[in-house]
Amino acid sequence: MSYRHLLVTGGAGFIGSNFIRLALARDAGLSITNLDLLTYSGNEKNLEDVVAQYGPAAAQRYRFVRGDIGDEILVRALLRGERGAAGGLPVDAVVHFAAESHVDRSILGPLKFVETNVTGTTVLLEACRQDLDTNPRAFRFLHVSTDEVYGSLGPDEPAFVETLPLRPNSPYAASKASSDLMVRAYHETFGLPALITRCSNNYGPYQFPEKLIPLMITRAMRDGPLPIYGDGLNVRDWIFVDDHCDGILAVLERGTDGRSYNLGGENEVSNLSIVGQLLTALGKPESLMTYVTDRLGHDRRYAMDIRRARAELHWSPVTSLDSGLARTVAWYRANADWWLPLLAESERVATQLYKS
Ligand code: NAD
Repeated sequence: MSYRHLLVTGGAGFIGSNFIRLALARDAGLSITNLDLLTYSGNEKNLEDVVAQYGPAAAQRYRFVRGDIGDEILVRALLRGERGAAGGLPVDAVVHFAAESHVDRSILGPLKFVETNVTGTTVLLEACRQDLDTNPRAFRFLHVSTDEVYGSLGPDEPAFVETLPLRPNSPYAASKASSDLMVRAYHETFGLPALITRCSNNYGPYQFPEKLIPLMITRAMRDGPLPIYGDGLNVRDWIFVDDHCDGILAVLERGTDGRSYNLGGENEVSNLSIVGQLLTALGKPESLMTYVTDRLGHDRRYAMDIRRARAELHWSPVTSLDSGLARTVAWYRANADWWLPLLAESERVATQLYKS
């Protein structure tokens, strides 16, 4: 890669931790500073192997800093390579994952989503702008966003393309769309070299057990009820997390400043069908499925048109849904000691959500 020091925000979460592992393995000359507040979904255990392999006692290529993206003074110090940043070099790219990420929580309490996703992202952008003003250099800001900013599709509508207007429906999606627009504004107004990735639903190891796939796996393993919203026919385009992380690296390396790139797995599947596949893989009966009152404003269908990423970046997802689900189920089976301590928090919220 052409980068030496990345500042990754939210790297103790699901996708960020998988990204850090992949990026450090891909490029032996790369250092990463991970800025994460460790909210309920952040977990230092997600990176224990990375700390052992690349942390301060080993190669010095990985450093964790607990802190808030909304702390402008801390962010500016990290951008200069100070306050415990890895490698002591100025940061040459920010990869911004940190967010409140769960739609259901945004329905229970939208304000936190505005604070982190909109205000927090804007403080981070402002810190980058000011740092580049005083220390001009080659730099990129990559903002990790979601297909949900485009709204919902009918059954026969074509997949989302990057040129569509944003039409978010949930408070989560609206907060992500707002942060996308701030990233755009910093590029257009101040010339900040910024790019946006919009990805479909991820699954894989280290996903907090409140999201659909790990929720179903961890409940089925305990013979608990599997809550199916509405008629279960909402369709999502599932992508294995490593394919998403590989796409982010492709955008960082080969994307054009000011552009957005859709990333997706080209696996459009209904929730009912995903849960059925998981039950088969786990050898559990379909009678565990329990229909519950639908999520408020539940988007019906998402699908991503990824032709821009294919053509401009030569990127494609490589993991089939069958093999990705098999790997994910195997990981949760082998790592109950990772997810069992997280159940108190996911079940606390589940009791507010799933009502028959
Ligand atoms: P996650 O909830 O697992 O991780 C979020 C991380 O951000 C956590 O480690 C948390 O501690 C950290 N964080 C939260 N607020 C912070 C703050 N103020 N300062 C510093 N750190 C903070 O989420 P995820 O699923 O890994 O998603 C990561 C990003 O990818 C998000 O921006 C999300 O919108 C986006 N995304 C997710 C998906 C998906 O399917 N999960 C799909 C497309 C895009």
